[in-house]
Amino acid sequence: LNIQSNGKSYSELIRNRSKTNLYILLSAFFIMIIGTLIIIRNIQNTVKVAQLKSDFVRNVSHEIRTPLSLIKLYSETLMLGRLRSEEKKQHYYKVIHSESGRLTYLVNSILDFSKIEANRKTYEPEKTALNRLVEQVYANYNHTFKEQGVAHELVLAPEKLDVMIDPQAFSEALSNLIENAIKYGGENKYLMLKVRSDKRFALLDVIDHGIGIPLYEQKHIFNNFYRIEAALTQNTRGTGLGLSLVKHIMDAHEGEVQVHSIMGKGSTFTLKLPLLQV
Ligand code: ADP
Repeated sequence: LNIQSNGKSYSELIRNRSKTNLYILLSAFFIMIIGTLIIIRNIQNTVKVAQLKSDFVRNVSHEIRTPLSLIKLYSETLMLGRLRSEEKKQHYYKVIHSESGRLTYLVNSILDFSKIEANRKTYEPEKTALNRLVEQVYANYNHTFKEQGVAHELVLAPEKLDVMIDPQAFSEALSNLIENAIKYGGENKYLMLKVRSDKRFALLDVIDHGIGIPLYEQKHIFNNFYRIEAALTQNTRGTGLGLSLVKHIMDAHEGEVQVHSIMGKGSTFTLKLPLLQV
């Protein structure tokens, strides 16, 4: 017995064995707790995703129903010949045109999103002068700026900044940011686009003086379907896809999208792209 117990007494052996058993028990207990926490977290995540998806379906239905009912109402009124004044007719045509534009934009975003999810979205990058492309997208919003009373400014980089991008996809990303800057622009809507460079990168700031985004929400806003509750209560229209599309597009171009925002003061979204080396 003395040989087997290495000179240790029985009580010492029992104490050691009990200690080992206690450690094993404690470890098993901790592993069980960690496992349970992981399972609870997974369930919470699944519930959250299901909730986001159902919100998304509701938002999309709402997004589709509103322009559709406007188009139906306005076109019926025009067809019945109830409008005498040419000015009013023009206004109705414009509404039909812009609402059908919204529908196209919405359907395109959803199609793009489903392509990205299925890894079927392809890009055709080409050498692009960033100043010129930004100027074009900005010019497309001239009418919207006037109509919605948005103060606006464009600051281009003094030098030519060439980047390798799919111009259509990049315009889509920029349009999403401009739409958001207007949508969440608060009382005095303001938008500034600023193209600049920093070492090996071209940067585009999209600046607004709107409602801002709380710090704790800033890491979530690029997730699929994610909408901030406060924004929802402010009756803005949206699907929660815009910023996730922006992120996908920037990632696909080896770029980045960053946000800097202060509640009540406004937000700056920055698109960052590697400059084309000459
Ligand atoms: P959507 O605008 O369709 O809700 P997005 O993915 O474009 O979806 O944006 C996600 C959320 O981020 C929005 O619901 C909104 O709460 C917030 N957000 C985005 N851009 C801005 C902005 N410029 N100012 C304030 N909040 C913003």
